[in-house]
Amino acid sequence: AEQMRVDFIANASHELKTPLASLSGFIETLRGPAKEDEAAREDFLTIMEEQAARMKRLINDLLSLSRIELNEHVVPADIVDVDGVVKDVIDGIAPIAAQAGVAINFQAPDDLPNAIGARHELFQVFQNLIDNAIKYGRAGKKADVVLSLEQEPQDDGSTSPFICAVVRDYGPGIAREHVPRLTERFYRVDPDMSRREGGTGLGLAIVKHIINRHRGELEIESRVGEGTSIMVKVPAVSGGDSD
Ligand code: ADP
Repeated sequence: AEQMRVDFIANASHELKTPLASLSGFIETLRGPAKEDEAAREDFLTIMEEQAARMKRLINDLLSLSRIELNEHVVPADIVDVDGVVKDVIDGIAPIAAQAGVAINFQAPDDLPNAIGARHELFQVFQNLIDNAIKYGRAGKKADVVLSLEQEPQDDGSTSPFICAVVRDYGPGIAREHVPRLTERFYRVDPDMSRREGGTGLGLAIVKHIINRHRGELEIESRVGEGTSIMVKVPAVSGGDSD
C-alpha cells in the first residue's frame, strides 16, 4: 500500500509537471524572443490554454478520487433516477459524440426502478464510460448504453434488485493483458493517445471507487477488433409489495 501511495504521488506530480513546464516555457518565450510577434502570441496562448485545461482536468479528477475514497465506507443512500442520469449525460456529451461521428443508442425499460446511490457520482460513472466509448471506440461509429433490472442472489438465499448498465463500443478493443489493470490509477494502454484525447488516466479508477462505494459491481470485457463492453451494477429500490 505504501509503495502504491508513493507511485501515485510520483505519477500525479509527473502528470502536472509536463503541462506546467510547457506553460513556463511559453511565458518565457512571450516575454523574450516572441515579444513583438503577434501571430506567435496567438498560437502560444492557444497552446497555453490547452495546457492549463489539462492541469485543471487532472486536478479535478484527483480531487474527485480523494473525495470518493474518503467516503468509501459510507454507502450512499439517495434515490436516483438512473434513466434520467444517463439521458442527461448523453445530452451533455452529444456535441462531442457528433463531432467524433459516434451515434449513441440508449435503451432502458419503461418500468426501470430507481437506484440507491449518489446522483452526482453515478453521473460521473456514465460520463467517464460514455466519454471513453467515444474517445477510444470512435472507429466503430456507434456506442450502446443499455439499462436493465437484474435480481442478484444474496448469501442468505434471497435475491436483491440491481440496476445493470452496459456501455458498449465497437472500436479497436483492448488486448487481454491490459484489461485487469485498466482501473489502476494512471494506467493507460497508449499514454500518448490518452493525453491527446484529453485523458487523465484516472477515469476508470474513479468509476471503480464509485461502484465500490455503492457496493456494486464492475466488469470490463473487450476483444481486439470487436470493441469494449463495460458493465456496472448498482443496488436498486425494491419494487412493489413483495416485502
Ligand atoms: P483515460 O483518461 O486515459 O481515458 P481511463 O482510466 O478512463 O483513462 O482509461 C484507462 C485506459 O483504458 C485508457 O487510457 C485506454 O487505454 C483504455 N480504455 C478505456 N476505455 C476504453 C475503450 N472503451 N476502448 C479502448 N480502450 C479503452
